[in-house]
Amino acid sequence: MTAQQPGDVKVLFLAGKGRSGGTLLASLLGQLPGFFNIGELNRLWDWGLVSNFRCGCGLPMQECPTWDGILAAADELLEAEGGAGIAPLRTARIDLAQASVVRWPRMLQLLRARPGSRQHWDDLDRYTTASSAVYRSIAKLTGARVVVDSSRLPIEPVALGLVPGVDVRVAQVIRDPRAVVYSWKRSKITTDRDTGEYMPKFSASFSTTSWLARNLVVEAIGRRSPVEVVQYDAIARDPAAVLRQLADFVGEPAGDLAFLTSETATIAPTHSVGGNPVRMTSGAITIEPDEEWRRGIEPRDRLVATAIALPLLGRYGLPVRSGAGSAREQAPDDRNPGLPALPTLTTNAWLRFDSIRRALRIAQPNTLLEIGAGEGGLGSWLSRHYRYTGVELDDRSRSAAEARIASNGHGEIKADIADVQDHGFDLVCAFEVLEHIADDAAALRQWRDYLRPSGWLLLSVPAHPEDFGAADELVGHYRRYERDGLDRLLRDAGFEVVRLDSYGAGLGHALQRVRNRLARRVLARRGEEGDTPEERTSGSGRFFQPSGVATAVACATIAAPARLAQAPFAGGDLGTGYVVLARRSE
Ligand SMILES: [Zn+2]
Repeated sequence: MTAQQPGDVKVLFLAGKGRSGGTLLASLLGQLPGFFNIGELNRLWDWGLVSNFRCGCGLPMQECPTWDGILAAADELLEAEGGAGIAPLRTARIDLAQASVVRWPRMLQLLRARPGSRQHWDDLDRYTTASSAVYRSIAKLTGARVVVDSSRLPIEPVALGLVPGVDVRVAQVIRDPRAVVYSWKRSKITTDRDTGEYMPKFSASFSTTSWLARNLVVEAIGRRSPVEVVQYDAIARDPAAVLRQLADFVGEPAGDLAFLTSETATIAPTHSVGGNPVRMTSGAITIEPDEEWRRGIEPRDRLVATAIALPLLGRYGLPVRSGAGSAREQAPDDRNPGLPALPTLTTNAWLRFDSIRRALRIAQPNTLLEIGAGEGGLGSWLSRHYRYTGVELDDRSRSAAEARIASNGHGEIKADIADVQDHGFDLVCAFEVLEHIADDAAALRQWRDYLRPSGWLLLSVPAHPEDFGAADELVGHYRRYERDGLDRLLRDAGFEVVRLDSYGAGLGHALQRVRNRLARRVLARRGEEGDTPEERTSGSGRFFQPSGVATAVACATIAAPARLAQAPFAGGDLGTGYVVLARRSE
């Protein structure tokens, strides 16, 4: 669309409405050789550089070493090219220039703007100069030939060909507007902010109007240069074909697509900005069409969306009628008859389960060592998914764990960590163990010796020293932890913290009060017999453990709504405990 120079960085810009499969598509594209998925780059300026939300790698933007490198390289480029007054980008507040340029009332002005000819629009110049330096630096630092930008908003100057030094190709991602409406009416937890707020919900008329406006702008772009159309259904049903189509569109080979099987893709962690929570997922993900909207959408919303989108429905091959009957019938709910059973956990352990599972998805271990396996509630679940070794000192707890693991897993339990021969585990985990150990720093260093280089450590510990109560005393805790101290402790022991989630906000506090009340009674009955924390610890793996099936189900049920309710607080400090994922640093 513009006079591109040879050697310009290729940008594959995904345009369209959010919730159309664009984040997933960008993740998949990022796996192609020579492609780098940068996420929604238009969020870099406000979410990244001003608000410091999370990068796709899980770190806050300003702490991500990859972004540090990209920004430094961009500053160098800007200085070399006389972009004075812009570098350093970290403090340039490009978000302000962006906010004044990328606005719907400016749409016609933007469509009329021509690259190269500076039209006395300083904010546009400032914004496109900064963007150009960032795209080129991404390519330089990652060695990518194609930068995948899933910003979606087609009035972004880059989509309109207004960013110099960039050879942009626009792909239009289309999803049925009624599915988009349905998706935007349900909230989704965003992982961008440390406080984990919910993404906003929007009305049917707003979402559809936005869908229509965006697609009309892409139609205008398509009159100047080729635009490749990708349907959501095609991404879900045949991702390989879509990837080949888009690789061809930008003139690159798609490679062997070995990361794709018929239903799943293995995604390496990326450094993406913005986008929905799927971008934080790495490892194996399942790709399947989401047809829930056909049954779930309110009749009124269906009508509103159909009426507003009508002018473009036919153009994209979308039917006017969109009821459940018009979808390919799918077996509801029982599509996964072989779902593995869930672990047997206390309510409190359930509250940290989601953070643990998320950490395991990041680490993707093959071999795993659990210190303090207790009665094997989590261990038996872990042993179904990983090559599992557990250590449990207490004889009674250990035989319970052995029985559980023998019945549904394939791992082993040792009585002493000294009996473990392997010193090359991918991951060592210890849930509610560290606080039972007098010299926690020494324990961490010992555990570190069981890890391969760059191996992972996954811990859970109780939070907030000021909350130390009777229940802590009863089960033999030496202490509770605070965020900074924990970070320091791990660093001194040779680990780098990758994620530190707070869990238990809400229900966790109620449980803590109940446990403290029970514990005070037990302690009073005992009359402070003076046993050591070690002696109390030995039985602590059996305290409050669910015994029967009914109790186990009750624990899971009570925890279910609380697990959702606490999620927005994972990045804060409101919970009763922490789940920490750290990496062996040398
Ligand atoms: Zn990153």
